[in-house]
Amino acid sequence: MNADLFSNSSSSNSKQRTVLTIYSHADDEVLPAAGTLRLMSLAGWKVRCLILTDGNLSRSSIKGQRHEEAEAAGKIIGAIYEFYALQECNFSTQEVIRVTEAAIQRIQPDLIITHAPQSEKYGHRDHEVCSVAVSNVATRKNIPLWFSAPPVFLRGFEPNFFVDISSVIEDKVAAIGCYESESEKTFMQLDAILVLSRFWARELGQKDGYFEAFEISRHCVDARFFTALASR
Ligand SMILES: [Zn+2]
Repeated sequence: MNADLFSNSSSSNSKQRTVLTIYSHADDEVLPAAGTLRLMSLAGWKVRCLILTDGNLSRSSIKGQRHEEAEAAGKIIGAIYEFYALQECNFSTQEVIRVTEAAIQRIQPDLIITHAPQSEKYGHRDHEVCSVAVSNVATRKNIPLWFSAPPVFLRGFEPNFFVDISSVIEDKVAAIGCYESESEKTFMQLDAILVLSRFWARELGQKDGYFEAFEISRHCVDARFFTALASR
């Protein structure tokens, strides 16, 4: 199952691959993963982004706007979005498990990406609940799972998979720029986002380039995985 997860979709074994991201809020997906998702869509993957909440704690003028902004970002990334209306700061693990199970049934993803699990003292409560619930389902269903970098407070995040997004960094910047309603937030500061992308490059001993970092939580391969790697 999913043996050629990292191989090009144009290879002979060419079922179109699907990545499903599950995040709490619109904008959570672009900050850590817009470049990677863009590379995947360019390589022929279907990219599906699921957002659990609708900004019900935002000002009424902003509520709903973030979904429009997400769809604009999706046009740049090459992603299709789905929105749910779970209550921000109040949804349960069980609700997210139900949403995740239904999405998996419908979308049949080859890979899931979600928040890194981080205790509430460092991260957003919604991110933690989402991460735990999605991990529960991905583990039970044996679906490859990656955690993306938290937007701030990297404590507890242990990246072990890095994606060179230098060729699509402008798309990432443009996707982030779609979230005008969030532009004043500290974690949306573009210079800091770019610095983090460069920081990951340095972590890899590279002088140049922009990277996104992930922690592979779950992966399962068979012989085709090594065949695909050998032909690179
Ligand atoms: Zn969030």
